[in-house]
Amino acid sequence: MAQKSSLVWFRRDLRTHDNTALSAALDESDCVHCVFIFDKAILDALTDRADRRVEFIWESVRELDARLREDGGGLIVRHAVAEDEIPKLAKALGAQTVFANHDYEPGAIARDEAVRAALAGFGVAFKTHKDQVVFEKAEVMTLGGTPFSVFTPYKNAWLKKVSEKDLFSRRYLPKTGQFAPQVLDVPSLESMGFARTNLAKLKVPTGQSGGKALFEDFLKRIDLYDEARNFPSVKGPSYLSVHLRFGTVSIRELANAALKRWRETESDGAATWLSELIWRDFYFQILHHHPRVVNRSFKPEYDAIEWVNNPAYFEAWCHGKTGYPIVDAGMRQLNETGYMHNRLRMVVASFLTKDLQIDWRWGERYFAEKLIDYDMSANTGGWQWAASTGCDAQPYFRIFNPTAQSEKFDAKGAFIRRYVPEIAALSDKDIHAPWLCSELVLRGIGVLLGKDYPRPVVDHGIARGLTLEMFKAARSPQP
Ligand code: FAD
Repeated sequence: MAQKSSLVWFRRDLRTHDNTALSAALDESDCVHCVFIFDKAILDALTDRADRRVEFIWESVRELDARLREDGGGLIVRHAVAEDEIPKLAKALGAQTVFANHDYEPGAIARDEAVRAALAGFGVAFKTHKDQVVFEKAEVMTLGGTPFSVFTPYKNAWLKKVSEKDLFSRRYLPKTGQFAPQVLDVPSLESMGFARTNLAKLKVPTGQSGGKALFEDFLKRIDLYDEARNFPSVKGPSYLSVHLRFGTVSIRELANAALKRWRETESDGAATWLSELIWRDFYFQILHHHPRVVNRSFKPEYDAIEWVNNPAYFEAWCHGKTGYPIVDAGMRQLNETGYMHNRLRMVVASFLTKDLQIDWRWGERYFAEKLIDYDMSANTGGWQWAASTGCDAQPYFRIFNPTAQSEKFDAKGAFIRRYVPEIAALSDKDIHAPWLCSELVLRGIGVLLGKDYPRPVVDHGIARGLTLEMFKAARSPQP
């Protein structure tokens, strides 16, 4: 019988463990080639050539290559335009099938369709699988067959539907000689025009081993998650978002562990964490059913908002110089590490849209440039939630008071002190609103407001009133 040869195209699934496409290729082929493309169509658009995401991918690709080599294979790694390279490679290798896992972003869907058509042109099949989410596309729908746009009923339907078959681990059992061996090394970051970042200094664990280590560490803390997750100075969340983004962990394994823990011990922490994973699926299905949310309001009436969009305020926000310490600490965490705590993402997004009256799309784009875990569905979901333009969003009249958020979630100012050292000497009480301190107190710690640390760019009370007017005008436009 003729040998069946296939090509596995890795994208957002940089692991051998529990990988649906890889497992299917091993089940269905005699000879398996593996490839990763550093896609010029994506990378050429990045203006910052020291990008933590590129370095994270590069490190994870090197680990994946090493793992495949241990099993007799290895990765073909190219710096090319994936849409052109995959069909060329499949043809050159004589593969009958290309295997990949689904990607749900509009650009990726268009790329995959182009690849599918090119492969079909010379008789190669393109088999794609669900892997990145537990439920995709229209798998969880209302009883009436329409998509959910409110989270709680979606979550209830998700929990009702989920079963062992959705969460079992895909096997990885390559036979001797089944992988095609590779000899070429992974190209260096520099050869692709990129430089190292502070990823190693930040001790961000990369690759499937990094994801595993973080997950094991989090499992020891999962029962405390519901309490600890809200405080940026506490090690409360899992820090797995970048691993979910690039598939160095399996969502099935994570969801399965949380579900089991919750069912066996009634752990509130596990239940809350599972809910967050379901939010992730929720926003993926929102993007699938409503791709316009990428740059339009989910609630169309809010496309009429007349944002003020003051560029100087935007600059101050981007650089963590608004004069509101909790906002500045969050933005500086983002700029210095590529990560921001979820509570702070909500605070800074609310501040941008509702204190500075800047279009949520400006903030969304800035996050997209800086976040190591940037994900189109969660990011547009989070931004539209904070801006009140999204599905199941904050009502427009609920406006976070940044000082109250700071006093509640960073009561002792520990997080602020880490990222805003210029006011670190203020007391736990004063650190949330330095503009309310007396000259004497500020002079005592050697801080001159407006010079050493900014005065607040806007007054929260006044800004709040203006924002309410801005939303009301969009909701009931004048004839
Ligand atoms: P944990 O608290 O440990 O949560 C576990 C996982 O659940 C996360 O890794 C993530 O995959 C998922 N999750 C948690 N909260 C959410 C949520 N609200 N929506 C969707 N999924 C969620 N998350 C991203 O992964 N990428 C983004 O680009 C992104 N942008 C955001 C922008 C804004 C304005 C807001 C308010 C939230 C955004 N989030 C985004 C959601 C959330 O802030 C991050 O997922 C979380 O902070 C990542 O840290 P963690 O892995 O330690 O999370």
